[in-house]
Amino acid sequence: MASHPDPAVAAIDPRTGLDALVRALADDGYRVVGPVVRDGVIEYAELAGGDDLPTGVRVEQAAGRWRLRRDGSQRFSWTPGADSWKRFVLPARQEVLRIRRTDGSFAVTHPDLPTRPLALIGARDCELKALAILDRVELDPDHPDPRYQQRRAGTFVVAVTCGVPSATCWCTSMGGGPRPDLGYDVLLTEIDDAGGHRLVAEAGSDRGRDLLARVGAPAAGDADVAAAAGVAQAAAAAMPRRLVGEELPALLAGQDRHPHWNDVAARCLSCGNCTMVCPTCFCSTFSDHTGLTADGSGAVETVREQAWASCFQLDHSYLGGHPVRATTADRYRQWLTHKLQTWPEQFGTPGCVGCGRCTTWCPAGIDIVQEAAVLSTTGGGR
Ligand code: SF4
Ligand code: SF4
Repeated sequence: MASHPDPAVAAIDPRTGLDALVRALADDGYRVVGPVVRDGVIEYAELAGGDDLPTGVRVEQAAGRWRLRRDGSQRFSWTPGADSWKRFVLPARQEVLRIRRTDGSFAVTHPDLPTRPLALIGARDCELKALAILDRVELDPDHPDPRYQQRRAGTFVVAVTCGVPSATCWCTSMGGGPRPDLGYDVLLTEIDDAGGHRLVAEAGSDRGRDLLARVGAPAAGDADVAAAAGVAQAAAAAMPRRLVGEELPALLAGQDRHPHWNDVAARCLSCGNCTMVCPTCFCSTFSDHTGLTADGSGAVETVREQAWASCFQLDHSYLGGHPVRATTADRYRQWLTHKLQTWPEQFGTPGCVGCGRCTTWCPAGIDIVQEAAVLSTTGGGR
């Protein structure tokens, strides 16, 4: 078999090679995190080695439904669950500062932040685009979030081509696709055909190229490279475009009194699940908690916390003495139109990457694609 001339394209054994790759990153000082099966779902957790990654796991997703089943021996045949990389760079709850006051002193301290850079294993295209959206918000040069900045710094990304998209995936409508096109150091594509089971690894950066050299991965053959391209093409074909994302801002404009908002509100529980699982939702709230310390010193401590918030919370729009989005219809409209209509105006990209989490994890089975299709194609206007 002819070898591909580019040494930055390598063939990796799905078990020993993957394990070597994870261990090499840990040896380099990274905090290596990746998918694990826990309590019947895929979560992201710190990995000790490649064997911690799932093997032979497939996922069925539908509106309000996520099921895991065992099938085969592939390493990346699953699609992501409710968990996302967001919580590693923007934790769901974190201490921001602590103030300690006694009769004679007043001290402000900040909590320690992780010192090891992250290495993400198995990131999909939608997840890399979601991180880029968070970066645009949290690393804005005019007001960067220093805690996000430190957690995100130096992240090493081992991305994966999606070979088996789920029924709720719609990344191809939102400018993405099964094969990541940016934001990775190494891209893996899993092939399991008559030629055997292997991972084609492509370097996307100098440090990715160094890693592949260090794990001793042999150069991939031309047939492997062609097969990897075929995996992405087949996955894209299995996920027909469901909406035209770039047209949604214009289509949704002026639909704020559409009767369908009330139809959705009749089904929506205003639980906020969709915002919690969304990898691009970044709203937070800050709260101060004050109390006497238990160390007998008589000191008073105040802890300031940052926690994820949701536009489905009634107090999220509290303004001038009352919530300005008082009904569920108001709050669903705020969420959907921010994601699909007004985000580009605010940040220059869509606020949605088409990952499908909000649909899968909605207890009422509300499907953002179906709702947006109704709201953007049948008039309801002002
Ligand atoms: S759309 Fe679904 S997940 Fe979102 S708030 Fe309503 S019921 Fe909850
Ligand atoms: S709005 Fe839904 S489909 Fe879009 S990025 Fe968020 S969770 Fe994924």
